[in-house]
Amino acid sequence: MEKFERQANEEALARRAKRKPSPKKNELTVVSMYCKGCGLCVDICPTGTLQLEDNIEGKFGVSVKVDAQEFCIGCKMCEQRCPDFAIFVNYEEEEKDKQ
Ligand code: SF4
Ligand code: SF4
Repeated sequence: MEKFERQANEEALARRAKRKPSPKKNELTVVSMYCKGCGLCVDICPTGTLQLEDNIEGKFGVSVKVDAQEFCIGCKMCEQRCPDFAIFVNYEEEEKDKQ
């Protein structure tokens, strides 16, 4: 990973350190083949739930991972910020509710 990617991870961990796990369980889904590891979701996540990681098998070399799902508050900022539709929040639960 590049320096700015490691820095994004460190800043996310610092935000997480100030939080407690969320009382509500939220499900995060990353579509790895769409994720280009830009880090926009890592930067915007208020709870430090996400981290970047090396992904040597992927096209872009870096991708996002859900590092601490229990901290996710389901705000969907990551989903809204992702330019590539590569991360979804509570997708299955909401699809079931529509049926
Ligand atoms: S999930 Fe989207 S915003 Fe997050 S690193 Fe991947 S492409 Fe970027
Ligand atoms: S829904 Fe909110 S808290 Fe959960 S990973 Fe996305 S930005 Fe972070």
